[in-house]
Amino acid sequence: MINAVANWKLNGSASFCHDWFDEFNENFHGDRSAVAIAPPAIYIPLCNELKQSNLNICAQNLDFSNETARTGEISLEMLTDMNCSMSIIGHSERRNIFGETSETIKNKLDKVARHTFTSIYCIGESLAEYDSGKSLEAIKNQLDNELLALNTNIKLYIAYEPIWAIGSGKLPSTQEIESMHGFIKETLSLSAKIKLLGIFYGGSVSEENSQELSKSELIDGVLVGGASLNGKSFAKIASSFDKV
Ligand code: PEP
Repeated sequence: MINAVANWKLNGSASFCHDWFDEFNENFHGDRSAVAIAPPAIYIPLCNELKQSNLNICAQNLDFSNETARTGEISLEMLTDMNCSMSIIGHSERRNIFGETSETIKNKLDKVARHTFTSIYCIGESLAEYDSGKSLEAIKNQLDNELLALNTNIKLYIAYEPIWAIGSGKLPSTQEIESMHGFIKETLSLSAKIKLLGIFYGGSVSEENSQELSKSELIDGVLVGGASLNGKSFAKIASSFDKV
């Protein structure tokens, strides 16, 4: 069971990877199989070399197609070949900057569902939806058009990431997160095809707030952007969720 995921986004370099693992290894003494690091894809082989443990290396994205004329993309088969069997899917930055539609995200989930591969599927409402009390509706729409539209069985993690909380230093209250996680669980329990491995919260998670989040029975883990760039900070966050 994974409970702490680092999303490095478009950050890093070979020397960053070396320094990061030195710091993380010095400061994390828990179960590494419950931790996943998502570096930019080009550093996946290096991170696999540096991890020296059963820590998981995760992709930030993958392509769903079996066509080869798709310049710039990376397939599930290529990731598997590089000993990476996990990917984030549907991050709000992929949706908003790169125009990924619900159809694209559904196709990615479908691809993963047909292989021995784990996805961390991201969903979340915008600030306008949150401010107008439409968070549940927004999440329900994403689930209906993406995950619940699949024809295949799937086992996956979900990351609830309110878009307005990402990189902003603002978080929903723990109660708001819990009520959304409860809603997601309830909605998905109606489908026999979906096996939910856990629900993570993502958006401005830090060393300071991770302890409180980890106390909630409805928050199985965290997806961390900014604070994951420091190996020591991320080690502290992962330690909050370490159940060993
Ligand atoms: C993210 O981008 O998935 C994220 C959670 O970012 P941050 O922790 O920086 O808000």
